[in-house]
Amino acid sequence: MEFSDPEAARLYADVVHTGSDLVIGLDFDGTLAPIVEDPTQAHVHPDVPDLLVELADRVRGVAVITGRPVRQALALGDLDVVGAQITERGRHFIVLGQYGNERWTGVDRRIVSPRPPHGLASFLREIPSLLRRAGAGEAYVEPKGLAVALHTRRLDEPEAAFARLLPLVSEAATRHDLAVEPGRLVVEVRAPGMNKGIAVRDLADQWSAGGFLFAGDDLGDVEAFTELIGLRESGTPTLVVCSHGGDGPTELEELADHVVDGPDGVVEMLRQLIEDLDAVAPRH
Ligand SMILES: [Mg+2]
Repeated sequence: MEFSDPEAARLYADVVHTGSDLVIGLDFDGTLAPIVEDPTQAHVHPDVPDLLVELADRVRGVAVITGRPVRQALALGDLDVVGAQITERGRHFIVLGQYGNERWTGVDRRIVSPRPPHGLASFLREIPSLLRRAGAGEAYVEPKGLAVALHTRRLDEPEAAFARLLPLVSEAATRHDLAVEPGRLVVEVRAPGMNKGIAVRDLADQWSAGGFLFAGDDLGDVEAFTELIGLRESGTPTLVVCSHGGDGPTELEELADHVVDGPDGVVEMLRQLIEDLDAVAPRH
């Protein structure tokens, strides 16, 4: 694999050497699946399902950690099939949805989810007037059960509409004791107290991670990036990978150890990782 600097190459080698103790965390949109106009059509890169199964054979566990509801990630990634295959082989796979609030494993094969947060129902009722005030009446409102996402991608001036909408949404969310998660031309409002950083930390504990590699592409991944950097400071080898999709936030690239070119780059990296894991610990 090509690394922009020798430090990244060293961090990658450290992670590879943790071998069967390694945990892999992967965001969904922009990381495993391309960003598309219609989020209901964001199917994973065609090589992803097989790669996840192969990878799970070699590491402690594989997790998909997404802002999406689990149900959508399962459908768009064939992840229920992937999970069943991995579990059959006695390996670990988990899908964490809604930033870690929902979970699905190949063992239970059902979605475990908390109740919707207080305040969400009243926030939902306020959305039409918020959109009107932001001049974004045609924004796409995506209810997610435990959260709601407002997308300006399909509007005429998506950036300007997003800039007008964000402060209004933030103010209303705060009033209803909800958290705001801005992304690329999307703002999500959800229960406070959970983020991908907490999800990653819980997973590292639960699976006794000896190493951790996480790849993500958007602002919702920042907490996971930060958590991995913290894990490294306390002695666990980690690698933070930014999947760069073209218009992603530069702040993520600055935090990351290694930048790859969107889902194609992630797939290429995982393929190389499998080869390198086999080189370190040959399989029989
Ligand atoms: Mg993403």
